[in-house]
This record gives sequence, structure tokens and C-alpha cells, in this order.
Amino acid sequence: MVIFEDCRVPKLNRIGAEGEGFKIAMAGLDGGRLNIGACSIGAAKACLTLAREHVATRKQFGNAIANFQATQFKLADMATDLAAARLMIRNAAAMLDAKHPEATMYCAMAKRFATDAGFAICNEALQLHGGYGYLKDYPVERFLRDSRVHQILEGTNEIMRVIVSRALLSGSFLD
Ligand SMILES: Cc1cc2nc3c(=O)[nH]c(=O)nc-3n(C[C@H](O)[C@H](O)[C@H](O)COP(=O)(O)OP(=O)(O)OC[C@H]3O[C@@H](n4cnc5c(N)ncnc54)[C@H](O)[C@@H]3O)c2cc1C
Repeated sequence: MVIFEDCRVPKLNRIGAEGEGFKIAMAGLDGGRLNIGACSIGAAKACLTLAREHVATRKQFGNAIANFQATQFKLADMATDLAAARLMIRNAAAMLDAKHPEATMYCAMAKRFATDAGFAICNEALQLHGGYGYLKDYPVERFLRDSRVHQILEGTNEIMRVIVSRALLSGSFLD
């Protein structure tokens, strides 16, 4: 924890013009949100890899569980959502680099989507591990716990929706 109670900072050390501090702090959040989204994608990718390995070796009812169509469909959805999340983060990152006027909104959309999808993929991977997924002996439960906070950090996903809907309702989006 860093505490700045009664801390005086000389004018010389001020970053930017007086009254601009909030704007400067908020501008830093766009990149931070992409960073959090990318962390979710990393966790989800690791979980998808672990799940794929597990279902190929775990046998139930005389069959590798990878041979059940229900398992295959779960993996397909996980891979699809992961690809979509990656595209959204990369697109928002390119817009931020290009200083696109709608970059903030696209960063919020990408953060919301990537962290929700990332957590859901980790959760599905845990489910595919059955009881083992819940135990500390396997790494998936740690990815699940760690990725959960991404829906809260750097602005909650409800606040991401506030940013997107505000842009939408102000008419500055969606032609
Ligand atoms: C592990 C961890 C590390 C962190 N690291 C940092 C850090 O390094 N630097 C930093 O500055 N902060 C950090 N935070 C703080 C983090 O950014 C905040 O927790 C987060 O922004 C949410 O704020 P809050 O906790 O005050 O939630 P609250 O604002 O109290 O929100 C509580 C609930 O109400 C909802 N809510 C609030 N307002 C609205 C609204 N207008 N519309 C709809 N729903 C709403 C929220 O979405 C949430 O579900 C960290 C938090 C955690 C858990």
C-alpha cells in the first residue's frame, strides 16, 4: 500500500498542467485495460492447453473423454471465444496506437469481452478436469482464481459497460 497523506509535492514535479491530473490518469487506463485483457487471454490459453491434454488422457466409460461430442463442443467454443478475445484486444491496441478518437470505447469493449471470456474459458477447463480441476494439485484452479479479478481490476466490467453505452448513446459510435 502506498499512502500519500499530507504529502506535499513541489510544483516543479507536477506532471502536466494544473487541473489536468484526472484526464492524465484516465488516459493511462486504456493501455492498462488492454494489459488486463491480455492477462486473461494468457490464462485462458494455458487452461485450454491443459484441458486438451487432460481430456486426451482421462478415460471414463472405457473411452478418452475427448471422444465425447459434449467435450469436443466445449473445446470448440473455448477456442472460438479465445480467438475472438485476442482479435478484440489487438484491434483496440492498434486503435490506441493510432490515437483513434474511439480508442477508449474499444479498449473498454475489449477489456470487458476478453476478461469475461477468459474467466469462462478457465472455468470450462476446470469443469473438463472434473474433481481434479478443483484441487491445488492441478494448475487450473489457480488460473481460475487469478483470472476472476480481471473482471474487477482497472475498472469493473460494469464500468466498461458504462463507458461503451455512454459513447453509444451520445451518438459517437456505430455507423
Ligand atoms: C487484487 C487487486 C489489485 C488492485 N490493484 C490496483 C492498483 O494497482 N491500482 C489501483 O488504483 N487500484 C487497484 N485495485 C482497485 C481496483 O481498481 C478496484 O477494486 C476496482 O476499480 C473496483 O472499484 P471498487 O473496488 O471501489 O468497487 P466499487 O466501485 O465499490 O464497486 C462495487 C460494485 O458496484 C458496481 N458499480 C459501481 N459503480 C457502478 C455504476 N456506476 N454502474 C454500475 N455498477 C457499478 C461495480 O461494478 C462492482 O460490481 C486493485 C484491486 C484488486 C482486487
